[in-house]
Amino acid sequence: VNIRDFSTDKHKKVDDYPYGGGAGMLMQPQPIYDAYKSVADTIPAENKTRVVYVTPQGYTFNQRMAENFAKSDDIIFLCGHYEGIDERVLEEIVTDYVSIGDYVLTGGELAAMVMIDSISRLVPGVLHNEISAETELFHGYLLEYPQYTRPEEWHEKLVPEVLMNGNQKKINDWRLAEAKKRTMERRPDLFDQYFALNECKEKLMQNKMIHIDMIEMINRGRAVLVAKDGNDMLLLDKETGYYHHAGDNKEFFMTLPREVRLDIKKIILHQEEMLKPVQQLFNLQNTLVCYQAVYTKRERLPISGLYRGDGKPTEDGLTIRLLTMEYADIIQNEYNNAEYQKVKEKDYIEDRIKKHRMYGAFIGEELAGFIGIHNDDSIGMLRVFEQYRGRKVGKALQTFMINKKLEMGWIPYGQFLIGDESSERIQKSLGMYMSKTPVIWVD
Ligand code: SAH
Repeated sequence: VNIRDFSTDKHKKVDDYPYGGGAGMLMQPQPIYDAYKSVADTIPAENKTRVVYVTPQGYTFNQRMAENFAKSDDIIFLCGHYEGIDERVLEEIVTDYVSIGDYVLTGGELAAMVMIDSISRLVPGVLHNEISAETELFHGYLLEYPQYTRPEEWHEKLVPEVLMNGNQKKINDWRLAEAKKRTMERRPDLFDQYFALNECKEKLMQNKMIHIDMIEMINRGRAVLVAKDGNDMLLLDKETGYYHHAGDNKEFFMTLPREVRLDIKKIILHQEEMLKPVQQLFNLQNTLVCYQAVYTKRERLPISGLYRGDGKPTEDGLTIRLLTMEYADIIQNEYNNAEYQKVKEKDYIEDRIKKHRMYGAFIGEELAGFIGIHNDDSIGMLRVFEQYRGRKVGKALQTFMINKKLEMGWIPYGQFLIGDESSERIQKSLGMYMSKTPVIWVD
């Protein structure tokens, strides 16, 4: 939208001298406000909308912010010119002040284009549709390893031998080593974070069952290390906004900086004795107690029950496939009385479907049950409709999902509520191990 089109001046003027003197010109509030209104009025009121003023005075744009912006329905970018914009209109319309780096441009358009490019590639469906196979690399903390394509020899330089021999384990090892080396040389600041999280991971691995969610959070590049002290650590899951704590020092939370303590409103505890002190300190009432179930083997499960696994229907006609938006309401309805807070939230199931994380089992064309991957990458939301129970549909779905995760190089795990016997039976029958003690969700 051209702000000039909204000038009431006969020369289409949009700028004037700053009060109090000083160099250059400032953009006036009225044309900007009217230009903004012309866009804002076309956006449905219920949409999540953000108004970004691109300015060197904002927080510096990064990948994490891009991930965040990608979740809004609409974004309006306001691009300044000259020496900037009258403060009064900014106060009224802007929700976010964002810079693309510590240097000054003549106008905001390029900054907006940079943000638009990096945000839109994160919107599901823009780049690729299926979950891409991610390796065990710490993507998100390490720079990428060097890559090569044809020809095999160029300027008398050969492609590294290891990439040519087809041994995936050796290739992965080489890539990890190169990624570490490169990060250490080029981005020592990132490498420090990687190193610290790696130390956390090793500690967590000493009791893998109870800490599998935290381990996978690190593996998947979602973890931010907030604090670490002796055996205690606090991680923040970038995707879910949940804090995760491991350790048993009851004083640990008192030692956290004030701004961290103020931010803790939902947290997952891995040691029961921490529950009381945490509830008291942060004044949190809701708790949900779960066990973790982990599939520790690397081999895929044999296809059992009704499901054939090759996408073709069995004699009974059972197939498992990605669910589309038309099933969102049916699934959401199943969760209206759930104890599990987050699945009740409007949009959660829609988000899972949009991100290609929900699968349905169909008998003929009828939906018999469904399963999904939560935003913490755990397997969950398994349900089989009443009239299809007793036909191993649940087991087929769980088998399918475990195999799918193994294919992606992830560790299959899930959490289930204490007392959910049918769920426990399925997990055990598939050879999943249960944590001996529970994890506790507190909010
Ligand atoms: N005097 C202003 C800078 C004006 S530059 C100040 O010191 O804040 C003119 C316009 O270019 C700004 O209004 C802003 O929209 C855009 N711009 C300049 N540098 C930018 C940066 N690093 N990131 C994002 N936008 C920038």
